[in-house]
Amino acid sequence: MSLPCDPLLPEPLALAVPGVRTLAPYEPGKPLEELAREYGVTDAVKLASNENPLGPSPLGLAAAREAAAGVHRYPDDSGHRLKDKLAARLGVSPDMIILGAGSSDVIAMVARAFLGPGRNAVFSRHGFAMYSIYTMAAGAEGRAAAALPPDHPRMPYGHDLEAMARLVDGDTRVVFVANPNNPTGTWLVRGELEAFLAGLPDHVVVVLDEAYTEYVEVPDFPDGVEWLARFPNLVVTRTFSKIYGLAGLRVGYGVARPGLVEVLGRVRPPFNVGVPALAAAEAALEDGAFLERSRRLNREGLARLAAAFDAMGLSHIPSTGNFITFALDRDGLEVYEALLRRGVIVRPVANYDLPRHLRVTVGTAEDNERFLRALREVLA
Ligand SMILES: *Cc1c(COP(=O)(O)O)cnc(C)c1O
Repeated sequence: MSLPCDPLLPEPLALAVPGVRTLAPYEPGKPLEELAREYGVTDAVKLASNENPLGPSPLGLAAAREAAAGVHRYPDDSGHRLKDKLAARLGVSPDMIILGAGSSDVIAMVARAFLGPGRNAVFSRHGFAMYSIYTMAAGAEGRAAAALPPDHPRMPYGHDLEAMARLVDGDTRVVFVANPNNPTGTWLVRGELEAFLAGLPDHVVVVLDEAYTEYVEVPDFPDGVEWLARFPNLVVTRTFSKIYGLAGLRVGYGVARPGLVEVLGRVRPPFNVGVPALAAAEAALEDGAFLERSRRLNREGLARLAAAFDAMGLSHIPSTGNFITFALDRDGLEVYEALLRRGVIVRPVANYDLPRHLRVTVGTAEDNERFLRALREVLA
């Protein structure tokens, strides 16, 4: 998109710091309203942002509604009630938790606190886009390690931890690991990840991004929080945006040793989590029944989509998230647009170096069938 520009003024972009000048902005999934505006499609289904197809946690929603009456007040900046609840649940002390407007806010704090010119951050080639964006915005160098090859027998397109370790040097301050990763859905098991963490030098902070951990049902899957006693520079991030169904409220958190949390607190924007978001997160934590329903729907949907891709002769990347990324024999954007015209929004992943793949979020059974019908039509 080109912006109108007064020739007498320097272009805003020219004034920006070098990292901001060169970064590729985050590309969110297309909102339903936009599809209605652009294509006149009003009954569309959005399977593009890994949102919970069951809606918000009912307990969380009720709490947010009630809390809305108090939004003339600033939120409790310490977020102590939510931190206490999280701490009790995770078996850590409240001073080991930092709250964010989504977990991407916590990821941004890590970048602001530990990255800058002359420093670098390491992540995997198909890793979550925000790692690279925040690294560059901080003026640091982003180093994308080659991923496991497409014909890898166990985890095609997954994080190659050996390749990542090779990129770490004396100027590396942050390593980003997503488990499972978005957009691939690939995961790391306990032994391999623990060995990787143990092998990193002391000057490296590790962000272990567990945005989808509540969905995971594969054996040997690690819980990063259990490693905090052993690895002092570890930050585990989690979110209420995914399984809890609260993406629109913006609340997530990081768990780390108290000293590290204190450093992140120095760059945390004040009042970064709003009143309804805090209340909703506290209540949603108690919503075990909703989590169980969400997990079951996801398990069934993942199996259904995987089986349908197999039947259509389309390969897919193994996933333990609430989404699945599948391969096409043609350009992904073309198929994405054809699906849009049929009222189905999925996510192109060309910006993740996957131009011939698309990512689809697991929906309700009905959503999934609608997507599959549209995909069969488009590919016919
Ligand atoms: C969705 C997502 C997040 C966090 O999103 P927030 O809404 O900011 O909590 C973080 N990491 C990954 C890999 C994600 O897919």
